[in-house]
Amino acid sequence: MLTKELMERIVAKNPGEKEFHQAVHEVFESLEPVLKQHPEYLKAKILDRIVEPDRQVMFRVTWVDDKGEVQVNRGYRVQFNSAIGPYKGGLRFHPSVNLGILKFLGFEQVFKNALTGLPMGGAKGGADFDPKGKSDAEVMRFCQSFMSELYRHIGPNTDVPAGDIGVGAREIGYLFGQYRRLNNRFEAVLTGKGINWGGSLVRPEATGYGCAYFCEEMLRTKKQDLKGKTVAISGSGNVAQYAVQKVTQLGGKVVTMSDSDGTVYDPDGIDAKKWEFVMDLKNVRRGRISEYAQRFGCEYWPGERAWKAKCDIAMPCATQNELEKDDAKRLIDNGVIAVSEGANMPCTPEAVELFLANGVLFAPGKAANAGGVATSGLEMYRNHIGISWSAEEVDRQLHQIMVNIHRNVADSAKKYGSPGNYVVGANITGFVKVASSMLDQGVF
Ligand code: NDP
Repeated sequence: MLTKELMERIVAKNPGEKEFHQAVHEVFESLEPVLKQHPEYLKAKILDRIVEPDRQVMFRVTWVDDKGEVQVNRGYRVQFNSAIGPYKGGLRFHPSVNLGILKFLGFEQVFKNALTGLPMGGAKGGADFDPKGKSDAEVMRFCQSFMSELYRHIGPNTDVPAGDIGVGAREIGYLFGQYRRLNNRFEAVLTGKGINWGGSLVRPEATGYGCAYFCEEMLRTKKQDLKGKTVAISGSGNVAQYAVQKVTQLGGKVVTMSDSDGTVYDPDGIDAKKWEFVMDLKNVRRGRISEYAQRFGCEYWPGERAWKAKCDIAMPCATQNELEKDDAKRLIDNGVIAVSEGANMPCTPEAVELFLANGVLFAPGKAANAGGVATSGLEMYRNHIGISWSAEEVDRQLHQIMVNIHRNVADSAKKYGSPGNYVVGANITGFVKVASSMLDQGVF
């Protein structure tokens, strides 16, 4: 492997960052045929450069909880690569957040953003803060303190963050308010904003919808669609919620949702009425998914994942490495035909290998969940030119972008000798666009 020695150096230079190593390794594995055809990338040390973030900022976030106690968290922004546009990527608030996880997410974001066809570089940020169990006032004070440092590193033409795990509409509101207060300027510095203050219709829906659209495109290559298919979805946050809605609208039956405590299994399907219950439970009452099982009298699997459910299609929409080799085996034994990643890197490399070896249609997150950032890109563009689009128009553009991504990724996979392998196709398509832009712009 042309990249073996470099990979060893990356592991030594970034000790303990296992998710980052995993993400880089997966991309490097796909690039062999490109590097053979384009030795100029190796000569210009593009790989050595592309794995090193442009900059990474780490800072203290101090705030006071409702009991009057001082709390201290750590905040981050990893600005990975801006060769094709201003930095763009979400903020994650979760106790597991560390530099390695944000570097993995930032690295993935570089290629994902390139796939959308929009001019956006890649970044990721967040904090090891847990919004779960905190009052609205505590979340607001945390967000204000976080933005009091972050604001000096971002800007509408520099870096435009969005949401991710633990950062939804509420958090984006508090963050935007503090940015505006500190700068005394109303500018489009975040996406996922409220509709009344510059946000885009269909942005909340975009990642989940896009994941379902990508899945439909994959199925179409086998002359199939989502109609009548049984679908297992994990998570019950933003991405999972709208993946459930779109799959249902397209005629599929979703039988699972989950959170970090367990999974609900509803063989009758999560229909529109039950979905409304989940939306209120998760976004208003901020409760646990087990309440769904109590309310609708279905099975609850405490501490277990969704992947033991019999299904035709799996959409992991919770977090990284949530679908492992044994889960993949079980899904394959149960006849799964397609897997579409709503989350970032939810399937481990061993699970992906099994899916590919068994002919399962497999969509990697950087292609299948790119609809979120693509719609953020549309929100940025809209903010710049000062117009607004209807929900139907944004959804139409989102759908078209997902169709284009699918086509480009499938074409690259074929061109470089791995037809049907969307992992190889996505990595190569994203890489070539960013790498050739870096070459054009000289050595720095
Ligand atoms: P949310 O915070 O809205 O929801 C996350 C969901 O995943 C919750 O149900 C949460 O359960 C569950 N979860 C989180 N961590 C774990 C864990 N360690 N084990 C089991 N379950 C877990 O986040 P999003 O829906 O926005 O994001 C989900 C995934 O999609 C992430 O990988 C994110 O990076 C990716 N993504 C999101 C985009 C977006 O637009 N929001 C865009 C592209 C990718 P609990 O509440 O119990 O923690």
